[in-house]
Amino acid sequence: MRAALEQARLALASGEVPVGAVVVQAGRIIGRGHNHPINRHDPSAHAEVLALRDAGAALGNYRLPGCDLYVTLEPCVMCAGAIQHARIRRVVFGAQDPKTGACGSVVNLFEDRRLAPHTAVAAGVLADESASLLRGFSPIAVVRRVNAIRVQQVEGEPCSQQLTRVCTTGLWLWRAAPAEADPRVPAPDPGESVARPAQWAAVLWCVCRPAV
Ligand SMILES: [Zn+2]
Repeated sequence: MRAALEQARLALASGEVPVGAVVVQAGRIIGRGHNHPINRHDPSAHAEVLALRDAGAALGNYRLPGCDLYVTLEPCVMCAGAIQHARIRRVVFGAQDPKTGACGSVVNLFEDRRLAPHTAVAAGVLADESASLLRGFSPIAVVRRVNAIRVQQVEGEPCSQQLTRVCTTGLWLWRAAPAEADPRVPAPDPGESVARPAQWAAVLWCVCRPAV
């Protein structure tokens, strides 16, 4: 699930709703995906679907029997369907989704015997971390493209870029421009002091909560 959270942070760094997923076979990650529908102009580009595609390509098989899928947010109906088609053995998810969750929050497609389910479900793993990423997300307030340099903000001081009212984290992060990004390069952790790798483009990323 920690690897799925890493993927969720990549989604956050791309200005997407922060959801991440990985597919695991015999203790090894064979597929990764982070939510990407906005930048790809693709309503199906949810983290789970992208992780399933990645795993399918890795195995050369459209079925993924014996594989488990870890995702930071309860899958939606679309993803639950894709998970069932892939014959995933078990879904482990973090936060519940009361709006579109298809593992019990709104509907439960994994308990409907008419769908011949193959997939067990486990809920609530690292739920707090998964939910707190989502709580901090605002597509309006968090992203501004600038010819940026790394800027250190002071927690509690007014935000110098006026993205938020008051800086709540005391830090800024780089993120990769979509065209240049390698999705397997993890974003730096908040507060981590890193030299900017070449693949991190000049886009400034604020992880503060939006102004209220
Ligand atoms: Zn979905």
